[in-house]
Amino acid sequence: MLTLSLYIDSELLINPCQRDYIYKALHPISTCNSIRSLRMPLEFVSSNKGTLLLMVDGYLFRKEKTFKEKTYWKCTEYDRFNCRARCNTEGDVVAAASQHNHVPDAAKVEVRKTMERMKVQAKTSQESTHQIVSSTLRGTSTAVAGQLPPVRSIKQTIRRARRVDGAPLANPDNLDHLEIPEGYKKTLKGQDFLKFDSGPGGNRILLFTTSDNLRLVVVVYSMIE
Ligand SMILES: [Zn+2]
Repeated sequence: MLTLSLYIDSELLINPCQRDYIYKALHPISTCNSIRSLRMPLEFVSSNKGTLLLMVDGYLFRKEKTFKEKTYWKCTEYDRFNCRARCNTEGDVVAAASQHNHVPDAAKVEVRKTMERMKVQAKTSQESTHQIVSSTLRGTSTAVAGQLPPVRSIKQTIRRARRVDGAPLANPDNLDHLEIPEGYKKTLKGQDFLKFDSGPGGNRILLFTTSDNLRLVVVVYSMIE
């Protein structure tokens, strides 16, 4: 076990195939399905598609089924490594888990946690989407940064997280980063209020008015003439 720990700690120095080969050598298949009893609290992260993934000992599990009081989960590397590891949860604890035939991918888990942190930041701070992404990327290791989705996709995720009710609006630092939520494009009576938006850029033009106000302008203008 000591040998394995050393290899996991130095995972950035060897490639994933080497790690899995070493892990399999240390864990013969016959021991892979032994069940351990656990009473640990649940910890979740979201997949790229928004599915809830359960984290146990650095491994990720996807929900399989719920039966009576228990929910059953299977390893997310089921297809990639043919891993048969399962675990089950009861109430708010992990009740039992079986062993994997591969090492945990620490960078992958950290990627999920990083995405979660950015979503929480989006919902609770007034930092712009650009600021959240920049500050996160600055504090991220190369291994994690290499596995993060493209910046454009991260920004979309942050904007989606911000669209939930009650999330604070980001402070725009220029017209490129100004995001106008749907709720601000309508009046309280549901009329269109943002009539024109030329799009991001230094010379951005935004025209806020209602059709009623425009008609009034036309009437007044015709009276003046
Ligand atoms: Zn597994």
